[in-house]
Amino acid sequence: MVDLLRQTERLQPGLNEAMHAVVASGAFIQGPEVKLFAAELTAHEGVKHVVPCANGTDALQLAFMALGLKPGDEVLVPVFTYVATAEVIALLGLTPVLVDVDPETFLLQPEAVEAAVTPRTKAVVPVHLFGQCAPMEGLLRVAERFNLFVVEDAAQAIGATYTFADGHTAQAGTMGHIGCTSFFPSKNLGCFGDGGALFTQHDDLAALLQQMANHGQKVKYYHDTVGVNSRLDTLQAAVLRLKLPHLRDFAARRQAVAAAYDAAFSGNDRLKIPVRVAQSTHVFHQYTLLLQGVDRAAFQAALQERGVPTMVYYPVPLHLQKAYARPEYPVGTFPVAEHLAQNVVSLPIHTEMEADEIQYIIHTVHQTLSQISFA
Ligand SMILES: *Cc1c(COP(=O)(O)O)cnc(C)c1O
Repeated sequence: MVDLLRQTERLQPGLNEAMHAVVASGAFIQGPEVKLFAAELTAHEGVKHVVPCANGTDALQLAFMALGLKPGDEVLVPVFTYVATAEVIALLGLTPVLVDVDPETFLLQPEAVEAAVTPRTKAVVPVHLFGQCAPMEGLLRVAERFNLFVVEDAAQAIGATYTFADGHTAQAGTMGHIGCTSFFPSKNLGCFGDGGALFTQHDDLAALLQQMANHGQKVKYYHDTVGVNSRLDTLQAAVLRLKLPHLRDFAARRQAVAAAYDAAFSGNDRLKIPVRVAQSTHVFHQYTLLLQGVDRAAFQAALQERGVPTMVYYPVPLHLQKAYARPEYPVGTFPVAEHLAQNVVSLPIHTEMEADEIQYIIHTVHQTLSQISFA
């Protein structure tokens, strides 16, 4: 699905040199690379503050801690997402309220969010799923009308650009009160382990996030708030500093793969190619097809046999997960998410794919489709 080793090799010897420099310095925690990376990412994203942390899930947790939400407060979350989005909400004693997604884009829609607002709703989490921005203009308008905090989950969309009606643009994760991203190795900007960051335009939130990510202390051994230990390792910051200048190229490489898949599959009525949000660029963390009348398991097995891996993101929507099931969410509550969970399939996409590999995948998908029986 992703070829991390080839990308690493292509960026050598720089990566090894950067890591060896950290090892030689001995400054493994809060070394100078961490601040340098934060400053470089701040400039790259056009956001006022970047607060690095240990992973994307922690970024989401820190966001809700800093916003001061209280147990019982409701947070609106798309039901079709990676579990981390809802996990931290539940962990903090807040109530994740699930909202179905758009059948075309798989993203949260302003109308659906508005319909789910109650007097207890305090925040909404647009997830920029698979690499393109949710319809932020409408979502921000609903959030403003109902006085909701907006926490963007940009773990899959770092580098995606959203264009507002007045023509101004913003990067994924920089439009809400707080944006969260992940540097998990397979993410679009990946390090060599876990890593994450928070984005915000608000000085007070940035200071609080920084403090909460480091045991609630501004001054060492003076703890003003309850915090957590969630710091980006110096080694990871060094790796990320080296990769950040390549982020636009990484996106272009993924977009080229997506364009080849689009051209090959757009005429096929059994495969629905990813629908683009007009206002957003797509950085293709995943290239996800919606199968129409195809036995997905048979399709995947046949592709696997011919050496083409596929994955299902995500096979079970949140309301059907044991940990998040609730009596008010029986099967059938979120028909779009349930349909997607049964019919989506993602093809390999990464920065190092060669033309012959792309052609082999395309050829094999066509061949497989013409051979398997249809559900
Ligand atoms: C990866 C991911 C996260 C969590 O990031 P980690 O760094 O793995 O903790 C959160 N939300 C989404 C949508 C993700 O894809």
